Amino acid sequence: MRLIFIGPPGIGKGTYAKMISQKYGIPHISTGDIFREEIAKGSELGLKVKQYVEKGLLVPDEIVVEVVRKVLERPECRKGFILDGFPRTIEQAKALDNMTKIDVVFLFEAPVEVIIERVSGRLICPKCGAIYNISWKPPKTPGICDVCGTPLIRRKDDEPEVVRTRYQVYKQTFAPVIDYYRRKGILVEIDASRDAREVVADVEKILREKRLIKE
Ligand SMILES: [Zn+2]
Repeated sequence: MRLIFIGPPGIGKGTYAKMISQKYGIPHISTGDIFREEIAKGSELGLKVKQYVEKGLLVPDEIVVEVVRKVLERPECRKGFILDGFPRTIEQAKALDNMTKIDVVFLFEAPVEVIIERVSGRLICPKCGAIYNISWKPPKTPGICDVCGTPLIRRKDDEPEVVRTRYQVYKQTFAPVIDYYRRKGILVEIDASRDAREVVADVEKILREKRLIKE
């Protein structure tokens, strides 16, 4: 099954993708994660991408498309995949259509207030990237990473005003892509203001209806 996950920052898209990815053995491909890794490694791609990211600019379509093309050619993607953070422009969506056929595009939605409440409790480990939440996934020792023992931090991106701004930017950025898939008839909206398990159960229900997974 070839899936795309779309949703505003902080809605929990990564969590849902991870749950589906682990359960059904298909890779979760986050272009954001790939870029962060390449930048950290200081690879040729990383250096290229860094120039744009540092200036607060979007990475150009041709670079993103090339990265995704290479990833989709990997053997582990043969069974399917979940694309997260891509495509974000019509050009990218069209390029993807030329590479493969997408089965379902899931659009995760929740009011911005729900997202603000959700991310305000989020703490991350600056060393290993583990994510915690004060209310539903607290670290064993308050403020310390269970995995590597590093003091946890709250990302600047999780501050309410930043979340609100990013939500607006997301809405504007993704509107054409969402419209593109809606017109193709493969967009499914999911209410993500509930518990992650319920959200994922909804996703599985759709996958079952479309005969992409068995009972
Ligand atoms: Zn850690």
